[in-house]
Amino acid sequence: MTRSFFLFLPFLFASLPHVHAQKLRKADRQMLTEIQTDIQYLSGNKLEGRRAGTPGEKLASDYIISSFEKTGLTPLGDQGSWLQGFEIYDGKDISRSRFSINNAALVLNRDYFPLDFSANQKVTGSPAVALQESGSPWFYDLKEIIESTQNNPHFDMEKALREKTKNFAAKGATAVIFYNSSKSDDGVEFNPAEGIAPEGIPVIYVTHAGRKKYLTDISQTLDVDIDINMEEKKRWGHNVIGYLDRGAPYTVVIGAHYDHLGYGEDGSSLYRGTEKMIHPGADDNASGTAALMELARMLHKTKSLKSNYLFIAFSGEESGLLGSKYFTLHPELDLSRISYMMNMDMIGRLNDSSHTLIIGGFGSSPQWASLISSTVNKKIFSIREDSSGVGPSDHTSFYLKNIPVLFFFTGIHPDYHRPTDEADKINYNGELQVVKLIYSMAEKMDGMNKPVFAKTRDAQYGETPAFNVTLGFMPDYSFNGNGVRIDVISTGRPAEKAGMQAGDVIIRLGKYPVKSLQTYMEALSKFNRDDKTTVEYNRGTEVKTADVQFN
Ligand SMILES: [Zn+2]
Repeated sequence: MTRSFFLFLPFLFASLPHVHAQKLRKADRQMLTEIQTDIQYLSGNKLEGRRAGTPGEKLASDYIISSFEKTGLTPLGDQGSWLQGFEIYDGKDISRSRFSINNAALVLNRDYFPLDFSANQKVTGSPAVALQESGSPWFYDLKEIIESTQNNPHFDMEKALREKTKNFAAKGATAVIFYNSSKSDDGVEFNPAEGIAPEGIPVIYVTHAGRKKYLTDISQTLDVDIDINMEEKKRWGHNVIGYLDRGAPYTVVIGAHYDHLGYGEDGSSLYRGTEKMIHPGADDNASGTAALMELARMLHKTKSLKSNYLFIAFSGEESGLLGSKYFTLHPELDLSRISYMMNMDMIGRLNDSSHTLIIGGFGSSPQWASLISSTVNKKIFSIREDSSGVGPSDHTSFYLKNIPVLFFFTGIHPDYHRPTDEADKINYNGELQVVKLIYSMAEKMDGMNKPVFAKTRDAQYGETPAFNVTLGFMPDYSFNGNGVRIDVISTGRPAEKAGMQAGDVIIRLGKYPVKSLQTYMEALSKFNRDDKTTVEYNRGTEVKTADVQFN
């Protein structure tokens, strides 16, 4: 935080009536201290980056509960508790599987892996690789399938292997061991997806490395010992839910996620170092969580307010908005009684020169425009409105239930999703101003009926195409122009290697025009690792082209 901001401080307060300034200053100092204390605790090493379902999450939820209790909220979680638990699927644990040929143990993942529809079973036998006898494990070379389908772009290998397995089992195979003696890639990989129905027998794929080592002579008879053990890994995330019930017909939801990346083990970390590091998540999202606890104190203290307020600290946000999605699917109160939802995610890094505050969900109610213009102090904030009700945080789950939403975000920064997102980089005064703005909006809306809901122009949730590669940058979510504007470039990734910079606006990838984040993601989904292509982009008024290779 640069000193220049402090220069503004007396000016900001000077405009308010004198007596009030005196009192306010004391009140503001107290709020600043509370926010600072909460952010420092939540982003402390003891909480190990607050990954959902870990002891760090528990420490954080205990902290939030004791704050809600002190404030005087009532619990509205499972069975009258403060917590609403939900399962998070963590892939499959196959580490206890075993496979040996002639008493030599093959190495999991390097030499072999079970296919996702394999049964969990133990099987032994002495099959001849080239023979398929009932009552014995069967070996099968994929060479034939690959050669007969290589001109069919829509061929689904996974489906074909499952068909083969069904067929072989019906003929008495006790297990199937697939391998590929051709040079062509077969695209067989372990799919950790959840809820895949198993077949009746164990199914194994031997990799090229395993084949070269153990299946050199297919005229042989081999002693095989198979023990497949696949378990779905799950952990439990916990939303923390506190209610300020004033007996009103409608309830305002105020939310912020409190989970973060832990040690970055789930793959969404941008940290590329080798040393295991805690991701403190001071801005993402200890800042929003501290604001949630502060707003609970403020709204509870103001006895004249009429609406009910539901404060939800979501977990599982970093794994795909899981906590908020779960809440909207298992609401602790009737969703039609929710008037609107305000979400705070990363509000701790207000830029002290641009003062940019991004307000998302702007288009989800026609009433937002007048609310924002009547509450925002232009001396403190430069507002960027993002119309869409869909965005990279928990308000999306409520918007999809036709609830008007407002999303508060002070923008991306180079510490995003890195171990460097620390408490000493938080703009505490900026955060206080955001909290006070949100309070004044709630106060203005208090006692009113449900604002009108409006659908915003955006992609339907779930239509987002899957992609395997990226160029390695963070898009500017507040950019509304044609193309995708680069906000932060990741080091050592294709975009940087191609000489691209923050501020460049991508307008074409290969033969695909890029108009928005959506079309960019669609274009990306057409490329794979190691693919080469060209990217066209605007730098200022200049149109530039660069060759890129995905890694
Ligand atoms: Zn976040």
